[in-house]
Amino acid sequence: MLGLMQHWPLVISRIIDYAACQHASREVVTRSVEGSIVRSDYAAIRARALKVAQRLVRAGIAPGDRVATLAWNSARHLEAWYGIAGAGAIYHTVNPRLFPEQIAWIVTHAADRLLLADVTFVPLLESLADKLATVERYVILTDRAHVPDTRLRDAIAYEDWIDEVDGDFAWVGVDERAAAGLCYTSGTTGDPKGVLYSHRSNVLHSMAMCAPDALGLASRSVILPVVPLFHANSWSIAFSAPMTGAKLVLPGAQLDGASIYELLESEQVTCTAGVPTVWAMLLQYLQKEQQPLTSLRRLVVGGAAAPRSMIEAFEARGIEVFHAWGMTEMSPVGSIGSIKPSVAHLRGEALIDLKCKQGFAPFTVEMKITDDAGRRLPWDGKTFGRLKVAGAAVASAYFRADAGILDDEGYFDTGDVATIDAHGYMQITDRAKDVIKSGGEWISSVALENLAVGHPDVAEAAVIGVPHPKWGERPLLVVVAKEGREIEPRSLIEHLRPKVASWWLPDAVEVVAALPHTATGKLDKVKLRALARLAARDLDGDGARIAEAWHVDRMRAGAAGNDDLNVFGPGRDRQ
Ligand code: AMP
Repeated sequence: MLGLMQHWPLVISRIIDYAACQHASREVVTRSVEGSIVRSDYAAIRARALKVAQRLVRAGIAPGDRVATLAWNSARHLEAWYGIAGAGAIYHTVNPRLFPEQIAWIVTHAADRLLLADVTFVPLLESLADKLATVERYVILTDRAHVPDTRLRDAIAYEDWIDEVDGDFAWVGVDERAAAGLCYTSGTTGDPKGVLYSHRSNVLHSMAMCAPDALGLASRSVILPVVPLFHANSWSIAFSAPMTGAKLVLPGAQLDGASIYELLESEQVTCTAGVPTVWAMLLQYLQKEQQPLTSLRRLVVGGAAAPRSMIEAFEARGIEVFHAWGMTEMSPVGSIGSIKPSVAHLRGEALIDLKCKQGFAPFTVEMKITDDAGRRLPWDGKTFGRLKVAGAAVASAYFRADAGILDDEGYFDTGDVATIDAHGYMQITDRAKDVIKSGGEWISSVALENLAVGHPDVAEAAVIGVPHPKWGERPLLVVVAKEGREIEPRSLIEHLRPKVASWWLPDAVEVVAALPHTATGKLDKVKLRALARLAARDLDGDGARIAEAWHVDRMRAGAAGNDDLNVFGPGRDRQ
């Protein structure tokens, strides 16, 4: 027997309808790409989104068509999202930090029909335009006065474009399971993969994110997503803020410490979210300028593990730091490190230990850890295995790809390796492809990296597995020194010795000028391993020999003019 309640489809347009009704004058503040601070509100965002939808329909955009955006966090970008989804089409957020060839590949794979871009990306698009065959028209997210002369196909200022309609329009009705958004993974291995969010998955994920144990949003909150709209739905904030009536502060292109600080203070932000790199810049600014944070209560950090010292520094300022973990395939949030009653007694170091974990899954997410054969492993906080997830906002397949991505129980393998403790707190110990398998046991590269950056001379560290005839793989530690410091490899090993099992100790330490990073700012271990493979052919556990092999092969690679292998930049000194 079915229930006798109304059918109320969970579609994105309802979010902005609600915000415009109940929180009409709640502000949406943008540091615009043109430079000024622009104030809008939810009523205006909805009115303009309706114009976007109406204009798209007039342009022949049909339900299911893809419309790309290449833009920073701004009110125009936000209303374009609601307009695209409200026309029944699919907003495809393109990450401008990807390599240009990847951008061309993604736009072509998605078959985007229109591309809405910030004015700053016009030169990039002009250089790619010949490869963007599916794009019929470019809409530049600015007014006529700011559009440069451009040869982009049929380019038009966004303000002129939406002024061609009157906004007297009704959202295009779609099924709640219809596709609403598309976001590609950064694809360090193989081609990028498209994750296709539905209206329903976005609404459910965002509702889960509003909860007190997640973002803790209320109508009196003020939230600043530093995390970009193009990075997996800005961790839901584009939806969860209007869903609650929270004031939204959008930082545009300026993500440096001073600019973020200025907005946090001038707009009296209570909650913010972003990756560790951004918070490192903010901390540096706060320490240098001796500035207080007067309104911020909650800071969510994710996308990569936050260093312990960062969590401590913000907590010392009275700000509640929550670690979050997730991925594009999960819409993206899979866990948040809020405090359960069973751990509420923790203080000092023990509390920071807990905060270093990635947290527990909210309602809508289910987790398990398994061994390589798929057998479930215990939640004891020690055993680590492949982390797999299922839920209301977890991908079931990639866009335009045939391969299945779920196991027999319907779980998606995240590619992360993790422990889960008895309280349900999950801790990432590695990426599956980065974990070092030595003598049948697993060594966590992330754990070694975190310990290595605790050494006073180390600025950044990467640990990779290199082939070993007896053990299968052994860890190699590659480090960058802090400015003006020198690293003595032996002292680094001594620093690690009391902290890890002896068989975890790296067989060799390499000191380099810089480490390679991906477009999303993560360590590029694929590149790092390519060089190590050359260098470590005859690794036999003798630190001196691997160092020697590394050096010689790098010189050879350099002589062959293979730029790809010069990942360490100039000035790499041998120790
Ligand atoms: P992306 O799809 O680009 O967001 O990347 C997702 C991956 O980033 C995850 O599978 C993790 O490996 C990593 N990641 C995200 N959040 C965290 C976190 N809080 N701690 C450690 N790794 C994280």
